[in-house]
Amino acid sequence: MSFNSLGLSEALLKAIEKQGYTSPSPIQQKAIPVILSGKDILASAQTGTGKTAGFTLPMLQILAQGQQLRHRPIRALVLVPTRELAAQVHTNVKSYSEFLDIRSTVIFGGVNQKPQVSTIRNGVDILIATPGRLLDLQNQGLLSLAKVEILVLDEADRMLDMGFLRDIKKILSLMPTRRQNLLFSATFSKEIKNLANDFLHHPVLVEATPENSTVDAIEQKVYRVAKELKTGLIIKLISEGNWKQVLVFTRTKHGANKLCKKMESAGISAAAIHGNKNQGARTKALAGFKNNSTRVLVATDIAARGLDIPLLPHVINFELPNVAEDYIHRIGRTGRAGASGEALSLVSADETSYLRDIEKLVGEKLPVEIVPGFEPDPNASTEPIKQGQGGGGNRNRNPKSNATPKSEAGRGNSSSKPRPNRNRNRNRNNRSKD
Ligand code: AMP
Repeated sequence: MSFNSLGLSEALLKAIEKQGYTSPSPIQQKAIPVILSGKDILASAQTGTGKTAGFTLPMLQILAQGQQLRHRPIRALVLVPTRELAAQVHTNVKSYSEFLDIRSTVIFGGVNQKPQVSTIRNGVDILIATPGRLLDLQNQGLLSLAKVEILVLDEADRMLDMGFLRDIKKILSLMPTRRQNLLFSATFSKEIKNLANDFLHHPVLVEATPENSTVDAIEQKVYRVAKELKTGLIIKLISEGNWKQVLVFTRTKHGANKLCKKMESAGISAAAIHGNKNQGARTKALAGFKNNSTRVLVATDIAARGLDIPLLPHVINFELPNVAEDYIHRIGRTGRAGASGEALSLVSADETSYLRDIEKLVGEKLPVEIVPGFEPDPNASTEPIKQGQGGGGNRNRNPKSNATPKSEAGRGNSSSKPRPNRNRNRNRNNRSKD
């Protein structure tokens, strides 16, 4: 199938050609015609499937064909959970709209609001935003959503995980009821289905990959290893494999920093990306990783969400996530665009139950390897790691607590009141804080 058959305009086809895309990805094939027909969609798609172009291309076409008002009110809103994803989506929107008279901008917290406000004041057709900053500016009367025709909720599952449900509902109430809604989510939990029921009108269900399945091109392997030997093992694997671009996941910010330092001492260039880093540091870390000056990027789940790192050959779980679905998000960073990838997990005794949950979710037993000299500890307890223990630093000390995970989407420097996490999913509330 080619892009020509999807009903997209010449200006969009030209932009697509410039990107070098030859054929639409499965989610694009399915979503683009439905969105062009004006219907709401409920789409299951992970990062790396081309979902951004899947909603951006038809959205641009609809906006370009619609009535252009002189003062350019915001006609399309793309809500995303994190700053990184916001910046990425905006980059994509800009490239795809290169040959159209469409203006877009991005707003997120953690940076000065002034330039954002003045761009909006000059008129933008598309606004990409994280919920916190959007509401901040709206509360200050600096933007209006009264003319929004198209709403995209991108990575809706992660937005709920981050406790944004209340903000999303507030934002929905600020828009005209007659609009087109596009909801994208990697997983369909009960909460996502409830949200979809609340605001989508007869949505068309679009699925690019079967729910909760891992990508076939990814080779997965488990190394059983004693907890205290993990650092040595990961350094050995990266050095001996001479791997140049490795994304490593830890459960906590503290763990990410610690591992980074150990890598550096072993002569492997590494950078950490997590919620305690400011925007400048995160952007720099990601840029260094993308241009190959940093070999290893150590990330926590929330920070890594939405990162666009094409053709990533290696993902290593230094620790397994305690929420099995995060495993799928993590390893979805490899094997993109048909390229093969490898996802390795270093698993100690106390992670046995997490491994079992993951295997249940992906529907297969993962092959296990033991590296001589890095054997598992036969005497170690298989009790799951308690929150707040095991060098985790600032983990949630009460697993049952409803504490709100601190948002990385940046509640901005102002109005950062803690909000209750409305997400009732027990597993998710038990998630380690990033
Ligand atoms: P996304 O899932 O939107 O994060 O996209 C993942 C990556 O795929 C991005 O780097 C896009 O530039 C790229 N991409 C999107 N659509 C296509 C396509 N049809 N062919 C090749 N690459 C694509």
